[in-house]
Amino acid sequence: MLKKNDKIAINIDSCTSLGSGVGRYNGMTVFAANTAPGDHVLLHIIKVKPNYAIGKVEKVIHPSPMRIKPECPVFEKCGGCAFGHIDYEEELKIKAQQVKENFQRLAGIEFEPQPIISGPSDKRYRNKAQYPVQSDNNSLALIGFYAPHSHRVIDCADCLLQPEEFKKVTDVFRNWVRLFKISTYDETTQKGLLRHIYVRKAVNTDELMVCIVINGNDIPFKDELIFELRDALPNIKSIIMNKNKRDTNVVLGDECVTLYGNGYITDELCGLKFDVSPLSFYQVNHDTAELLYNKACEYADLHGEETVLDLYCGTGTIGLTMAKTAKQIIGVEIIPQAVENAIENAKKNNIDNARFICADAARAAEMLKEEGIKPDVAIIDPPRKGCSKELLETLNKMNPDRIVYVSCDSATLSRDIKILTEFGYKFKTATPVDMFPRAPHCETVALLSQRIPDTHIDIKLDLSEIDITAAETKATYQEIKDYVLDKHGLKVSTLYISQVKAKCGIIERECYNKGEGKSRVPQCPKEKEDAIMDALRHFRMI
Ligand code: SAH
Repeated sequence: MLKKNDKIAINIDSCTSLGSGVGRYNGMTVFAANTAPGDHVLLHIIKVKPNYAIGKVEKVIHPSPMRIKPECPVFEKCGGCAFGHIDYEEELKIKAQQVKENFQRLAGIEFEPQPIISGPSDKRYRNKAQYPVQSDNNSLALIGFYAPHSHRVIDCADCLLQPEEFKKVTDVFRNWVRLFKISTYDETTQKGLLRHIYVRKAVNTDELMVCIVINGNDIPFKDELIFELRDALPNIKSIIMNKNKRDTNVVLGDECVTLYGNGYITDELCGLKFDVSPLSFYQVNHDTAELLYNKACEYADLHGEETVLDLYCGTGTIGLTMAKTAKQIIGVEIIPQAVENAIENAKKNNIDNARFICADAARAAEMLKEEGIKPDVAIIDPPRKGCSKELLETLNKMNPDRIVYVSCDSATLSRDIKILTEFGYKFKTATPVDMFPRAPHCETVALLSQRIPDTHIDIKLDLSEIDITAAETKATYQEIKDYVLDKHGLKVSTLYISQVKAKCGIIERECYNKGEGKSRVPQCPKEKEDAIMDALRHFRMI
């Protein structure tokens, strides 16, 4: 029986959706972070539960061929890059496999996902960072990320997933905190001012937003801070103070005060311009988001006449990128600032066939149904927890022809797809999209359709079989070839078989691949003709 502090050597066979390696020891499942499928490792068991145990790697005895040397100096301490020690191509395979398994396990759907889509880079792809801030014993600001399963801040000067210039932002804060003795927030006492530094970049326009999250009403020496930030980063478009005085893990409070600029940044995505406020959701990986939206657009299959319902629309991005090919777009989003952005974004892009509703998605869907709205296509892109049963029920009653479901968690996606298929929707296909390289979780876009199943089926035919007629259905060309090879030790071509068949009157046409014009058609030698005749007799075709 496994006990805490045991040292065991095991093989790692697979990995969880959070990137933790999984092995078996005497029938017990053992999880170990920073291991890779194919590793043989020595683990120190740190936790034993009735059904599983957790180990910490002491030594990699035989490394998996998937292993690479992590590039980040704080890889192990930070834990954000769950796949940082695995070759990126292998990470993509693991993520695609996990999507497939979730569909199988949670939706009962056996299918081969479309090839996983990945963006141009697995580094520096993020356009957003939320750095927690703490003080060390010398009153210096630690600015970085929480260590795994804790709220201890690991100082990180430069995260390889973030744009390089984010480092300049955190450097300004480090100096400012030290110089002006700014207090940092302590979760245990709920005292101290500076909680988080939240940075966002519009990668296509280069605009930068810095949001200072505080436990208080104002920031001392803020003019000095604003000056330093603008001096270090001339592309700063907005500096915002966000007040969060609650005892909560949620990073942002509800109140934003603009200290500099207009309070938002504008990015370009899929050829459109989008204003993004600090409280509004915006996809963190710009380039891969474009690929995701293209796929969603392909699945929506719009021809200009459709009403499209864009539930959980954020700043309206998905719906607005489809507006030109639809009759009307109705977006629904719960965060008021995001809806304000969405309305403004429609105007900015001269889109006049989109309307936006600020409400809970389930409630709005119910009201739209009562209004008599029948969407042709529904796009749903909920947060990780997925959709409520009520929303799926209402959606089913609204009866859209197609549902395009975008999800950052294939487990809740599969759960919801199971419900929709029980309502009668047909699952068509799904494509995993690696929106978060090196980090756990994989985006997936799935297509469901209300149509009855296709009345035709596709059958793959070997070209050599195309010539068969009713009279010769008894044996295929391949069976004849196999028989001749087996019985007479001769290899015969489809052409020779068809020549013999034609001679025997089984087929009227000559072989399909008879050369036209100049090329001479080889004639079946006597020995092979006899062998083929024997096969035709054997199969009672003559
Ligand atoms: N489709 C958008 C946003 C997706 S993120 C995009 O691609 O950018 C999910 C969005 O759902 C967030 O904007 C969040 O604020 C919103 N949301 C969360 N709960 C909601 C609810 N109950 N009703 C409506 N919107 C909700």
